[in-house]
Amino acid sequence: MKEFTNRAGEDKNKAGLLPEDARWLVDLQNKGVRTAGLTNNGRKGGAGPSDDAAFRFGEDTFMLPAFNDPAEHSPYEIVKQEDGYSLQYEGKTLMYIDPVARPKFYDRSTSEGIPYQKIAALHGSDVLASTVIQSCIRWSPKDRCKFCAIGHSLDAGSTVAKKSPQQLAEVVQAAEELDGIKQITLTTGTPNETDRGALHLAACVEAIRKVSSLPIQVQCEPPSDERLYQILKDAGANTIGLHVESFDERVRREMMPSKSSISLDNYFDAFSKAVSVFGRNQVSTYVILGMGEDPDLTLEGCRRAAGMGVYPFVVPLRPLRGTMLEHAQPPSSAYMEQMYGKVAVFLSDAGLSAAGSAAGCAKCGACSALSSFEKAIV
Ligand code: SF4
Repeated sequence: MKEFTNRAGEDKNKAGLLPEDARWLVDLQNKGVRTAGLTNNGRKGGAGPSDDAAFRFGEDTFMLPAFNDPAEHSPYEIVKQEDGYSLQYEGKTLMYIDPVARPKFYDRSTSEGIPYQKIAALHGSDVLASTVIQSCIRWSPKDRCKFCAIGHSLDAGSTVAKKSPQQLAEVVQAAEELDGIKQITLTTGTPNETDRGALHLAACVEAIRKVSSLPIQVQCEPPSDERLYQILKDAGANTIGLHVESFDERVRREMMPSKSSISLDNYFDAFSKAVSVFGRNQVSTYVILGMGEDPDLTLEGCRRAAGMGVYPFVVPLRPLRGTMLEHAQPPSSAYMEQMYGKVAVFLSDAGLSAAGSAAGCAKCGACSALSSFEKAIV
């Protein structure tokens, strides 16, 4: 275990993460933190990474696993002290951090009485995120992606099945006014095999554009009709996320029995079409590490994607409660460090960066340590 930078004596509001801290951020994002109920601003269930909470490290914000199995047994703990919240490793204070406060817009409801929190959530400290269609044709015991929890938040009643464009526009306005959000991420479950949710995403973006000029990322499976990229762009989306999840076909078939019917070739074809519409650095793909993938195939996929202008947003597997990988182990920190370091070089060679992305996961970066490795190269 690396010795940590002890920042406890520094001004906790100014001490952000330095590039050399990236190594232990990796460990923290893999193992998570015990919070003993200190934060009520977490995500549970839903699409994408979840079971986590947002913490400010000076000027940086990261999402740390806080409610999954690894977090329950983590050597890291957040402890409330007289002068703030300390992050401790096996009882030793490493630095002070601040849980991101519950946003004010969570206290409001639509005219139909639906709490805004069921329509969109705060990610990190300034991203408004929503799963516009919460159901997915692949959500069956046989077909569902093993890492995904999209059906659970619907079952738990913490969200609504389909958000209307008007509801989203209303929540965006409130979150911008009350909480100063800076960007918007709209994702979707897959409702069909044709537009794959892109048409509803476009309608949502169009409605948001009437009330806000904030940058927006849309995320969906590659639609079969390539004209939909232009339709999304014309609606006002700034970036698009096409999430391949893994660059190893064997792992894709095992972890995504249904979604893997969209092959890697299909994804690379989609990347090229999306970049021709959105531009380099404005297309990203999610790459989950720690599912048994071949590192060489993974790195080759990341290198090829980056060369095409697509930002490969690599993240460690987050074993979520209620998923088929609930009891899986996250990848080792040594593996993640090595992969982050190499992908950061590909990004630099291709002239891509988190900062150069207008919106979405690459821009936010809170679920990954990749942008910290980018900074270490510069
Ligand atoms: S990286 Fe993506 S999923 Fe993670 S907090 Fe940011 S917007 Fe949400």
